[in-house]
Amino acid sequence: MAALTLCLDIGGTKIAAGLADSAGALVHTAIRPTPAGAAAEDVWAAVAGLIAETLPVADGAVAAVGVGSAGPIDLPTGGVSPINIPSWRGFPLRDRVAAVIPGVPVRLGGDGVCMALGEHWRGAGRGARFLLGMVVSTGVGGGLVLDGAPYTGRTGNAGHVGHVVVDQDGRPCPCGGRGCVETVAAGPSLVRWALANGWSPPPGAGARELAAAAAAGDPVAVRAFARGARALAAMIASVAATCDLDLVVVGGGVAKSGAVLFDPLRTALAGYAGLDFLSGLRVVPAALGGDAGLVGAARLALL
Ligand SMILES: [Zn+2]
Repeated sequence: MAALTLCLDIGGTKIAAGLADSAGALVHTAIRPTPAGAAAEDVWAAVAGLIAETLPVADGAVAAVGVGSAGPIDLPTGGVSPINIPSWRGFPLRDRVAAVIPGVPVRLGGDGVCMALGEHWRGAGRGARFLLGMVVSTGVGGGLVLDGAPYTGRTGNAGHVGHVVVDQDGRPCPCGGRGCVETVAAGPSLVRWALANGWSPPPGAGARELAAAAAAGDPVAVRAFARGARALAAMIASVAATCDLDLVVVGGGVAKSGAVLFDPLRTALAGYAGLDFLSGLRVVPAALGGDAGLVGAARLALL
C-alpha cells in the first residue's frame, strides 16, 4: 500500500480520525463524540480507541501523523488546553500520540490552522496565497495560510480571529476580554440577540431555525444575521489589512446559512475594506465541510 497519513481532528464535540493519501484524499474516516466533561485519561481513551481502530485499516502504511486540536495549544511543548475539554490543561497530546505510533513523526496544529490548510489544499482556498480560513458555528475560529504556508505564530495560536474585538464596550467574552466578534456573530449570539429583539420561535430553536426564518424574510431574523455579518466583516477587514489577504474561506454551521449570511457580509465588507490593496479580497463559502480539519492535519504532517 502507498504511504498514508493518519490524521486526527479533536474538538469539544467530536473526535475524528482519518487516513489520507499523498494527494489529500481521505480513504478512511471514523468519528466519535468527545466525552468533553470526562477526566483527562477518559478523553484520551476515546482518542486512543479511534487510533487503534484506524491503524489496522492502513496495514502498516502510515508514514506520518497530523493532529489538529481545539485550542489553545502550545507548540513548543506539544500540549493542548482546549476550552471545551476542561480536563485537558497542558495535556501532552503530541507525546501521547507519538507513544502509540512509535517511529512515525507526529505534527500538531490548531484546529483553525488545519481547517485553513485543508481548504487551501483541497477545497475552496485552492490557488490562494494569503488565506484566512474561518469557522462560524457555536464559536468563531480561524487560521492563516500566508505565502502558501501555515502561519502558527509563537505558540501555535495565530489566527484566533474569533477574539478580534469589534465592540470596545461590548459583552464579556469567555476568553476574558469583551466585545470579541464571537460575542456578536457566533450562532448562540445571533439567537440571543434575535430572542431579545422579538423573535418568537418554538422552544429549543437555534441558529439553524433563525437562518430559516431569515431566509423566509422574518425581519428580526434578517436583522440578527445582518448584525452578525457586520461584525464578521469588520473583523475580516481588519485581519485582511493586517495580513494582506487575497481570500477568506468561511465554514461552520452558521456559514451553511448561505445568502442570509454572505449577502450582508459582502455588503458590509465593501464598507470597511477601503484600502486599494484590499479591493481584490474575496469571501467564499468553505467546500470541505467537516472534513477540512482532517485534510488540513494530513497536509500539516506532510509539510
Ligand atoms: Zn474573546
